[in-house]
Amino acid sequence: MLLEYGSMDVTSILNQLNPAQEEAVTSDKPHLLVLAGAGSGKTRVLVHRIAWKIQVDNISPYGLLAVTFTNKAAREMRERIDELLGMSLRGMWVGTFHGLAHRLLKAHWRDVNLPENFQILDSDDQLRLVKRVMRSMDLDEQRWPPKQAQWWINGQKDEGLRAAHIQETSDPHLLTMLRIYREYEEVCNRIGVIDFAELLLRALELWKNNPAVLEHYQQRFQHILVDEFQDTNAVQYAWLRLLAGKVSGITAVGDDDQSIYGWRGAKVENILSYERHFADTHTVKLEQNYRSTSNILGAANAVIAKNAERLGKNLWTDSGEGEPIALYAAFNEHDEARYIADRLHSWVQQGNRREDSAILYRSNAQSRVLEAALLQADIPYRIYGGQRFYERLEIKNALSYLRLMMNCHDDTAFERVVNVPPRGIGDRTVEMIREVAREHQVSLWAAAEKIVTEKRMAARATNAVAVFIQLINEMSGQLDELPLHEQADHAIDRSGLIEMHRREKGERGQARVENLEELVGACRNFEPEDKDQPILPQFLDQVALDSGDRQADEDQDAVQLMTLHSAKGLEFPLVFLAGMEENLFPHKMSLEEPGRLEEERRLAYVGITRAMQKLYLTFAESRSIYGSESFNSVSRFVRDIPKDVIEEVRLQSTVSRPTSYARGGLSSDQGDDTGFALGQGVNHQVYGEGVILNFEGNGPRARVHVSFADVGTKILILASANLIAL
Ligand code: ATP
Ligand code: MG
Repeated sequence: MLLEYGSMDVTSILNQLNPAQEEAVTSDKPHLLVLAGAGSGKTRVLVHRIAWKIQVDNISPYGLLAVTFTNKAAREMRERIDELLGMSLRGMWVGTFHGLAHRLLKAHWRDVNLPENFQILDSDDQLRLVKRVMRSMDLDEQRWPPKQAQWWINGQKDEGLRAAHIQETSDPHLLTMLRIYREYEEVCNRIGVIDFAELLLRALELWKNNPAVLEHYQQRFQHILVDEFQDTNAVQYAWLRLLAGKVSGITAVGDDDQSIYGWRGAKVENILSYERHFADTHTVKLEQNYRSTSNILGAANAVIAKNAERLGKNLWTDSGEGEPIALYAAFNEHDEARYIADRLHSWVQQGNRREDSAILYRSNAQSRVLEAALLQADIPYRIYGGQRFYERLEIKNALSYLRLMMNCHDDTAFERVVNVPPRGIGDRTVEMIREVAREHQVSLWAAAEKIVTEKRMAARATNAVAVFIQLINEMSGQLDELPLHEQADHAIDRSGLIEMHRREKGERGQARVENLEELVGACRNFEPEDKDQPILPQFLDQVALDSGDRQADEDQDAVQLMTLHSAKGLEFPLVFLAGMEENLFPHKMSLEEPGRLEEERRLAYVGITRAMQKLYLTFAESRSIYGSESFNSVSRFVRDIPKDVIEEVRLQSTVSRPTSYARGGLSSDQGDDTGFALGQGVNHQVYGEGVILNFEGNGPRARVHVSFADVGTKILILASANLIAL
């Protein structure tokens, strides 16, 4: 089989490597650790090392296993190896941890006590099951939010802990979580389903409990390669160690500065323990960056230098300064999005491909305004690793309430939210409603009303349905009186949707709350075509159109939109980092904990280092996001970038070196030519009397911090605040 690769010679594996990369690729120590900054060729080393192992060390592709972070990365890796070897690889295992675990469990379902066709639960399925379990335990969902239980269970599994491993405690909270975990485990086993965290844990247990199986794979895989090693969690690392055993070699490549999944259990410490766990490790550092211009790299280095907990490394490039990093201070988020669309338009006009550009952002909720601007400018885009705004679960739920308020006979909307948030309307009740609807050829709503009036079910179920009917009736009763955004606000509030997500723990719940608030923002900005017609139906039609198939097709050249988290490992000639504002990025949730702030900073480093040729940083002086308007100062990450690599784009397209943001966003004691001074008393039409605490920026967008006697401190745009000196 190996002879097939004979056409390739060794020099072609090595001729595009620098000496340090070559040292790594050709290392003949059993284990290799490549610890290096962004864009230094870690992934490239991994790919070339695979070719080397096949070509020179004569390991069959069948004896290699490579782990990547996303399926997209796995596909790309395969392509790169095929290209290098000049033929298609078969037999080699390449995939994500989850993908590989799934493959193993499929092959060894008996050994891990799973039914042959076990089902994988995605996160929403898992939540539904957790709820079911909790209901059977008579636990009050208000007091014990199911999402929190789900988060807790997954956290334990990520650490490798089963319910049986966890000690009983006297802490009532922990004890309840533990009881739920136990029950949940039992139900999963009984019905033969398996969640994402379970995939990994079960695959680990496969090794642990079945020495013969482990030995088989230990013998098979002579070398194991892991990309993005800094983001492996405890179970993944333990799995690797068992598989490697005493014989197989491991190549791990990673960058402690790019560890961005600490919040999901990833352990950057794995890098530190690696040399201890794998004796005879060859460690290589790569210091030359091949991806970015020196301006971009300089910015990235300066930002990450502020972190205290680093292994520390130097990263340099000889690729030349390149263009300066552009910084655009937008008036608001629409201005920001228009600016980006405009820049993209020019980029394409200059003969570039759209897919060579990316817009990256911290929070999913930011995509809505960007999407709208791209649609408006007719620029095809694709959202990668995430859903478009109007397709997100929480948004669909909220829209379903709005649709029911408009037309209670909307069956799809009815089915979607009749028991969301949970109000005691179980599957059997819904089935009964469906039956009555079928029987009488009426809508689900009409059927539900019938069931209530005719008291066809047990009192508890009937009541639950009655409560829902009353809720929708009440909500729609006020339709005509309220402006659209208040209707939306009302819908997410009265329905209990927002409260339900507020109770969820972790980033996901937070993101859902933000998205719901963002929906209210969308309603506030919505301009109906026909002002004489009711606005809600017009809005819902617009949404339906927007969420049609306007996202670019698979093969269409399109701009890529994604969160910073999804951008890991990727590179693009042109990158926009949108929303570079305090509270948005770094995210407000991270401001209090130094550890989380460092993780945000690493995320900024990841973002900046995605750019090859040109990087745009944009921020908005005022931003309506999550349904309310805020005035945040420019992100600290922007302020940490040396001034001489930045070019501030001003209105009217004039360009100058930045002055306004550079000193922590504060200019001088005197608001330049504003006519006001620090400490001066002022009067504002709405907020009343206050005292000037600070000035920020210059020119028409200069802002002023005023401490008002009644409403506390506000940050206002000086030009539009109409302050009167006292
Ligand atoms: P990240 O930390 O972002 O995952 P990385 O360290 O994995 O980055 P790669 O993606 O492997 O870096 O490489 C970055 C870019 O530099 C790629 O376009 C790669 O082809 C190029 N590159 C790496 N090494 C060399 C080299 N020796 N000569 C020319 N180009 C190189
Ligand atoms: Mg990489």
